[in-house]
Amino acid sequence: MSHTCKNLLIRCMDFRLNKEVRKWIAESDLFEGGLDIISLAGASKDLIDGSKEVKNNFLKHIGVSVDLHQVKKIIIFNHSDCGAYAQDYQFSSPEEEKEKQLEDMKKAKEIILEKYPEVEVVFIWGELKDEEGEEIEFEIL
Ligand SMILES: [Zn+2]
Repeated sequence: MSHTCKNLLIRCMDFRLNKEVRKWIAESDLFEGGLDIISLAGASKDLIDGSKEVKNNFLKHIGVSVDLHQVKKIIIFNHSDCGAYAQDYQFSSPEEEKEKQLEDMKKAKEIILEKYPEVEVVFIWGELKDEEGEEIEFEIL
């Protein structure tokens, strides 16, 4: 028996994102064909600055999605006011935080494409409009 889906969402584990992300998944055609979800602190952050073991483990999970479920598109979803980034960096402005995270998302894309050149990688930014994540603006970068 085979079961496949078209998309893999790599998102931050932050609980504040849950409500709006669920809504976004239900409403956006970005996820047509179903999705796997990898949920980790800082989304793809560990792929950039994790240990070799952590990176390999991350890639192993992506591999299950690509090889077993045959996903065609990987959506990397980072967000503003991210605790995982706040732990490691001091940003002087929200713009600086976004810039750093986008830089990391691009690096993650390179690492993913090196191993899985056949997939498409998409970046989404989530801008929290309030501290609780009651409203999040999703932007395709
Ligand atoms: Zn986060």
